[in-house]
Amino acid sequence: TLAHETHEHDVLIIGAGGAGLRAAIEALAQGVRVGVVCKSLLGKAHTVMAEGGIAAAMANVDASDDWRAHFRDTMRGGKFLNNWRMAQLHAQEAPERVRELEQWGALFDRTENGEILQRAFGGHSFKRLCHVGDRTGLEMIRTLQDRGVNLGIDVYMECAITRLMKDGDRIAGAFGYWREQGRFVVFKAKSVVICTGGIGKAWKITSNSWEYTGDGLALAYDAGADLMDMEFVQFHPTGMVWPPGVQGILVTEAVRGEGGVLRNKNGERFMERYDPKRLDLSTRDVVARSIYTEVREGRGTEHGGAFLDISHKPAEYIKRKLPSMYHQFLELADVDITKGPMEVGPTCHYMMGGIRVDAETAQSSVPGLFASGEAAAGLHGANRLGGNSLSDLLVFGRRAGLAAAEHAKRSPTPTIDSLQIADAEREMLLPFERGGGESPYAIHEELQDVMQRLVGIFRTEEDLRQALSGIEKLQERTARVHVEGSRLFNPGWHLARDLQSMLTVAEAVTRSALARRESRGAHSRIDYPDLDDAWGKMHNVVVKKADTMKLFESPVIEMSDDLKQLLIEESGTK
Ligand code: FAD
Repeated sequence: TLAHETHEHDVLIIGAGGAGLRAAIEALAQGVRVGVVCKSLLGKAHTVMAEGGIAAAMANVDASDDWRAHFRDTMRGGKFLNNWRMAQLHAQEAPERVRELEQWGALFDRTENGEILQRAFGGHSFKRLCHVGDRTGLEMIRTLQDRGVNLGIDVYMECAITRLMKDGDRIAGAFGYWREQGRFVVFKAKSVVICTGGIGKAWKITSNSWEYTGDGLALAYDAGADLMDMEFVQFHPTGMVWPPGVQGILVTEAVRGEGGVLRNKNGERFMERYDPKRLDLSTRDVVARSIYTEVREGRGTEHGGAFLDISHKPAEYIKRKLPSMYHQFLELADVDITKGPMEVGPTCHYMMGGIRVDAETAQSSVPGLFASGEAAAGLHGANRLGGNSLSDLLVFGRRAGLAAAEHAKRSPTPTIDSLQIADAEREMLLPFERGGGESPYAIHEELQDVMQRLVGIFRTEEDLRQALSGIEKLQERTARVHVEGSRLFNPGWHLARDLQSMLTVAEAVTRSALARRESRGAHSRIDYPDLDDAWGKMHNVVVKKADTMKLFESPVIEMSDDLKQLLIEESGTK
């Protein structure tokens, strides 16, 4: 092996978003040594971009809200494919996690009597989203970062992990490289927590930033962990559609939460046709499909979207409640949203599927490997409700950190044999050494095109089969990728590695989507448009066996009787 630096921790956390930082804080509190690695700078994770808020049944605005109602909404939103125990823990623990965040210094918007203010959001039957204008994620990350840094976490920034290391069956650490220098680094750890967030960069139109190439999912998969519910990719109904350079950038659901209304080019409030009860605040899967359908049937706007209008509200109110949106449209699209409508359309936004974990401990199927946040599967089932991600990060970030620390305390120090390290190095150096001449940029563009056209909001068997063969060809071409230059900050080289993650994830999504012959939540099959009860009892799980991707079905965990009763009892309410 080449010379490389080595760091040793009890718990290594990959990812410094809300989930990673919350996990780090909890693991530190258990008295173990904690390291956090992140691909970009600290403070740049997706969490910082979250706008709408954190869902927690605090009942500050709607006194009748409670965890049961939050649990019910989450299960309904997820079309009952959610891991019910995760949904229960999430609904029960979210208020405490938000109060704790406030104690650590987060400044939320307030009600008149000084409590945390909560706003309406799609699929939530009460005003439930705790927020800071439309900059909630920024406040959350700032607070967690301050706390973590004060407690003394070691942070390794601009360092990308490319492989997990194992000692026999259990986890032993991770291998990566410094993005700037290109030097390799080995982290030894008794527990590893994956908090790497989303996968959006495999699609062309996405709200996700450059980092979100599904690395954590691919790392876990390569290490033998199960991936679950991979067919469930959320397309947020409202991304910017114009001008082209900003296509996909998110327009927060808080615009609709604060009273924004969707219309087609004829001025019709089309949600009256698709969900007359919940209208613009229907769940994301429904609104995204509705906009898509309006456009397809010729009622879209000039640039292929819908109008979203909040200009009927006072300008001062809009600027106070949605300051980022006001500036975003003014600066990027030259539109003043206090005076006229925005043009919006669906954008690839969030991954419901991911690493299969135990509800209580967030441990994956590989001993010592944990996952939380967007990289983990289970909580959101077939569709996530807005605001339920930030609360997910806090609730399960904490649980993962705790369990990872306890696991580390119980475990002897693992050893990493040098062959594994040498192999990880060889894999990274190959693109410099081999001939072949395929460009990572061209392959990435083609992958985004395949996923956007064939594995989008509406799917068919024919399209998915075509996508799968396209992905397989791109995988073959990726094995011939060549990059020029040195290891010093070399974006082409970085992309060559990220492509492997994206292709793994793309294949898993497509295979799972092909298998699920029904429409449920975010997964819509034109050839199987209805819910199928049999599929309501099954998850698709993907695992690596003998170097190939295997898909199998795994039954949904039976819900406890008291919770079943709760869903029946309350099913009459809204
Ligand atoms: P992230 O915050 O995405 O962090 C991932 C971390 O992993 C980063 O530090 C990254 O550098 C690191 N990483 C990735 N790969 C590697 C690697 N190979 N090696 C090392 N490090 C790696 N949800 C809500 O609940 N409410 C909202 O209002 C809301 N608004 C949103 C607005 C936008 C624009 C977007 C994009 C998302 C929004 N979401 C919202 C969703 C939510 O923000 C994300 O799902 C959530 O923040 C994910 O958090 P996380 O901790 O799982 O990962």
